[in-house]
This record gives sequence, structure tokens and C-alpha cells, in this order.
Amino acid sequence: MSGAHHPHHPHRPQPDGKQPQAPIDDMPSISNYSCVPGQACWPSPSQWAKLNQTIGGNLKVTLPWAAPCYTDPSSDQCKNVGSHYMDSMARTAQYGSMEFLDWEMCGQASCMLNSFAPSSPVAGSCDLGRLSSYYVEAHTADDISKALQFVQQHGIRVSIKNTGHDYFGRSSAANSLAIWTYNMKDAKYHKNFKPKGCKTQYTDVGEVGAGIQAREAWEFFEPLNMLVTVGAVASVGIAGGFGQGGGHGPLGPTFGLMVDQAIEFDVVTADGKARTINECTDPDLFWAMRGGGGGTYAVLISYKFQLHPAVPLNVYSFQAHWAIPASGFDITQSKVHRDVVTALARNQTLFAEQGIAGYNFLLPDHMVSLQILPSNDTKAIQSITSQWHDFLTNYPGINITDNTYHVFPKFSEWHKFSETPSIARNGPVGLGLQESGRFLPKKLFNSETKIASIVNAVVNAMQFSYTNKGGGSAQLYATGPLNQPDNSKTGVNPAWRDSMWEVIMGGIWTSNTPLNDRVQIQNTISASIQPFKALTPGGGCYMNEGDWMEGNWQQTFFGSNYDKLLAIKKRYDPTGLFNCWKCVGWNGYQDPMYSCYAQTGASPNPTVPQGPVGY
Ligand SMILES: Cc1cc2nc3c(=O)[nH]c(=O)nc-3n(C[C@H](O)[C@H](O)[C@H](O)COP(=O)(O)OP(=O)(O)OC[C@H]3O[C@@H](n4cnc5c(N)ncnc54)[C@H](O)[C@@H]3O)c2cc1C
Repeated sequence: MSGAHHPHHPHRPQPDGKQPQAPIDDMPSISNYSCVPGQACWPSPSQWAKLNQTIGGNLKVTLPWAAPCYTDPSSDQCKNVGSHYMDSMARTAQYGSMEFLDWEMCGQASCMLNSFAPSSPVAGSCDLGRLSSYYVEAHTADDISKALQFVQQHGIRVSIKNTGHDYFGRSSAANSLAIWTYNMKDAKYHKNFKPKGCKTQYTDVGEVGAGIQAREAWEFFEPLNMLVTVGAVASVGIAGGFGQGGGHGPLGPTFGLMVDQAIEFDVVTADGKARTINECTDPDLFWAMRGGGGGTYAVLISYKFQLHPAVPLNVYSFQAHWAIPASGFDITQSKVHRDVVTALARNQTLFAEQGIAGYNFLLPDHMVSLQILPSNDTKAIQSITSQWHDFLTNYPGINITDNTYHVFPKFSEWHKFSETPSIARNGPVGLGLQESGRFLPKKLFNSETKIASIVNAVVNAMQFSYTNKGGGSAQLYATGPLNQPDNSKTGVNPAWRDSMWEVIMGGIWTSNTPLNDRVQIQNTISASIQPFKALTPGGGCYMNEGDWMEGNWQQTFFGSNYDKLLAIKKRYDPTGLFNCWKCVGWNGYQDPMYSCYAQTGASPNPTVPQGPVGY
């Protein structure tokens, strides 16, 4: 039977040699929501049809995005999918695709194209994998409320997908009913705003529906001369995982994280009730949803947040290439890598204190570095970065391809620049991808000895990745809320607050990559963060940009907030209706609904296709 529970090995060793920790919580380990097709509990076609009626015909049958290429490769539909296969915006526009192939597939069940050659022939069948067979195309809080009542009644799993960017696959779950929030595209500007039940009056408040993406947000608020604290990439949602899990971007050092801007949320809680929550009405739930992660506490309908009067984005942009030997290259011995990381680390405290955000990409044979200062003083960035600029400009033996200061009067202009192919390094999509990450606290940047230890960690991590099929790149983000100390108002990982760098290691695979190599790439990236862990005992990682295989996940992703976050979770969602991989209150490796994650050791149970929906 498709829903049979297979043996599992929850304590499989981690790539770093550590055992995953058993969950410390006492949420129900056998979920109330594990009904799958073939079991008596699974709704009948007429029950599905009834749900469809109550939500105005918005219960839909999933077609994987690449399906037309499996039925008719010469069709226009197939060509259209192929020509946008690695376009992050296009991948968000239908339920039937995720940004990464990892989270569409379950075991061998998948429906993918060859990422870098999408018109090459496909073989085998197009399967749903982790994609739900049915999804609710949500337009209103009422659609969501009805969907939640339905899954409660039948004991089936619910998943919530907004844009499908999640790096842990938390927006898809095989055999779940999916709620797709992408079409909830309202946006409003409030000159004055008073949260329900509060005395405080706010000015310049934005309000966006659950489905608004970064680009839509700045396109709406830019003509009003307002800035939104979006991230680096246009297609990421504001209100879902980004706005509930953290949300860092080029405005981070100046204004803080997205969760720092939150003023009020409209949500539907697990009991199906629509509520308006803020620090006056529901202080605990509001605190938890400001950083405790998406998909955990409630379905967010509308996000109200602080806007900021527009200022220009002033940017120092640098790129250089250098030659490396065809074989035997050792990044740990590479002078240019060591010198660049040393110089950047020496300048980083100054940059951060002045509100400069940094995106630094270090590869075996080249680097890209962007320093961004939102300010009316369009000259300030040149004096603040002068030492860094002189160091780079005079560095011997490198081929400098960009070394420019820019002033972008509008956010959209900065963003267009950031999409220049040679610098658009903030995350390829439409392929398989593994990430790992770590916060490096500011105290590591205050002495030459400690800076030397950072440099060693960077080159060791890169070299490990380079020699083990990971590609050898490292991203050093300086986009955190360093100038916004914890005010106890957000449930976000406290490690964010004094994080100077968010280091990210990443590696990619495609449908052409042999299975053994995929596993090796994943394990390499997972293990490559080890030098940074060794530098930061008890430290953490951004819950949205980490390693889904992380064993010590509660401490790593939520830090000292975990116990409080869990207590609030139990209060608002006592039956564990909302559950996602390594989220607060996660059911653990033994939950049969997580069989698609290789780390469970379970044999994968992909989605069982369902018939058409009646109405
Ligand atoms: C290419 C790329 C670039 C990125 N750049 C940045 C960046 O610059 N800064 C940054 O901070 N992060 C960045 N991220 C990480 C990003 O914040 C996370 O992937 C985040 O989870 C995306 O949220 P989403 O709602 O768009 O995606 P989804 O994958 O749709 O959702 C993510 C999680 O939120 C839940 N969720 C979605 N909508 C709701 C809702 N309405 N109510 C409750 N739960 C919901 C989902 O169930 C899931 O658990 C990037 C990711 C990618 C892939």
C-alpha cells in the first residue's frame, strides 16, 4: 500500500561524522496528519468536490511544470518551459515547480529537464514527486480557513507554498494538500497606521498580501518614494519564509531585517480562525512569527510593515579574475584568496557600522564584491571604502574587470544592475542545490589573530569544496542587522544580531549529474561549513539559508529562542497541523510524511496522483 510506513534510520551519521540529535521537544511523534491516498481516512472524490465548491472552484490538480516536455517535446508549451527553466521568476508562476529540483522530486520520482540544456530529450515518466496532487489556489483568508478545516477533519498533511524558494523543501510535501498563496497580490500604503488595540501610531506603513514578491513590492512603493527591506533577489516573497524567518538584504545594516519592520499581521491560525495579530493583541504569537519561521504558526494573509523614505543606493562594485593551474591548485596556499579575505575582514567593522551592506563572492579563479550604502550622501561610500578600494586597485597580478562607484537614485536601478550576469551570483535556480551557512560574530573581527582564523576557515572550506566536487566557492554576506540590537520584539535567531558575516557555501547538480555525485556534492557542502562551526561554538545559521541535513538544528537555526518558540507553537497549534522540516515543533526523522528526505533513511513515498476534481 502506498501509505505503508517503511523502516527508517533516524540516526544515520551526518557527513560531518556527527549523529543527528534527537528532537528535544515532545510534540506528537506520530503526527495526527499522516493520512495518505489508499487509506480509509483519505477523502472521497465527492468530499474533494465539496471542498472545491466551498472555495469557489479553487481546488486544482497539479501539472508538473515540465510535463509538456514529457508528452510533446515539440510543443510550444515545452519550448516555453525550456526557455525559462533557470529563470527564478518564471519558476514561481505556477504551483507545479519549485526553485530547486531537490524539492520537486521524491526518490527517483521527478519531472525535470536538463538545467543547462533544457531542450535535450527527456526519458522516463513525469511524476509528481513531492508536489501535491491537489492544491488550493488561495485568494482569500476564507479559502485558507476552509482548507485548514478540511485537512483537520481528514487528518491529512498541509503544506504552504508561496514562491517555492525554500532551501529545505519546506514548501512542498508529498501527499499533502498544498495551499498556494502566490496569487494574494494586494498592496497598500498607509500614511498613518495604528495597529489594532495599540496606542502607538506609525507613519509610512506598507501592507502586502501573502503572495507579493520583492519586485512587486518595490515596484509598488518606489513611486511613493518609499524603500522596502527586500533581499537580493526579485522573485523571493516578502510575507512567507522571508518575512517570517528573518529577511536580510542590502538595507539590512541600515534598517534591520524584514522581521524588524513588522507592525501587524493578518493570519489564519490552526483553528481556522482569521485574526489580526500584533504586539498588543497577541504579543507571543506576533513575536514568534517575527523570526520563528514560515509554515509553523499560522498562514499569513497580510503583512504590515515599516517603510523607509527613499534614499539613493551608493555602490562600490569590483570584479577580478586570476589564473589558476590546471591541476593541483590549493586554495589554502593561494595568496590572493588569503589577502582578499584579510583585507575585507579588516574593513568589515567600519563598513557595517557605517550601514554598508556587502555581497562578496569568492571563487577559485575570481571574485565579485559589492558594497552598498543607502544614503543621501552619495560621496560617503568612497571615503569609507577607500582603503579597500586602494588595496584591490593596486593588487598585483589580477585581471580587474570592474572597479566602479555607482549612484542608483532608485532601488529598481540598483536591482537591475545587480542582475548583470557577471555579478548576479545570488543563487542560481532551476537545478539541484545544496547550501550550508554560518554566522560569524563581530567579535571575530576585532583582532589580527582572530581575522587570521577567519581567513584560514574560508580557504580551508573553499579548498574542501573544490577538491570534493562542491565547486569551491564561498559567499560572504554582510547584510545583517548589526546596528539593530535585540529589542526582545522578534523571535529571530539572536545570533543574527551580532553577526558580521553570514557565510554561505553552496554546490549545484543537474539531471545529468550521476546520483553518486549528487550525494557527494550534498555531503561536501554540508561538511564544508565545519571550519566555520569550529570557529563559532554555540553559534548559529540563518534558518532560511542553511543545510537541511543540519543535526543540531534547534540550536543552530533558532538559538536560545527555541524553547519559547516551541511553547508558543504548542499553544497556537496544539495538534501539530503545521509542520515542516526542522521547523519549530518538527516531528522528527521518524515522521513518515518526510520519507522523501534522504536523511530519514526511509524509502521514499512520492505523491500518488489523484483524479480530476469535481465541482
Ligand atoms: C535565489 C534565492 C535568493 C534568496 N535571497 C535571499 C535574501 O536575499 N535574503 C533572505 O533573507 N533570504 C533569501 N533567500 C531565502 C528565502 O528567504 C527563503 O527561501 C524563504 O523561505 C522564501 O520564502 P517564500 O515565501 O518566498 O518561499 P516558499 O518556499 O514558498 O516558502 C518558504 C516557507 O514559508 C512558508 N510560507 C510561505 N508562505 C506562507 C504564508 N503565507 N504563511 C505561512 N507560511 C508560509 C512555507 O510553507 C515554507 O515553509 C533566498 C532564496 C533563494 C532561493
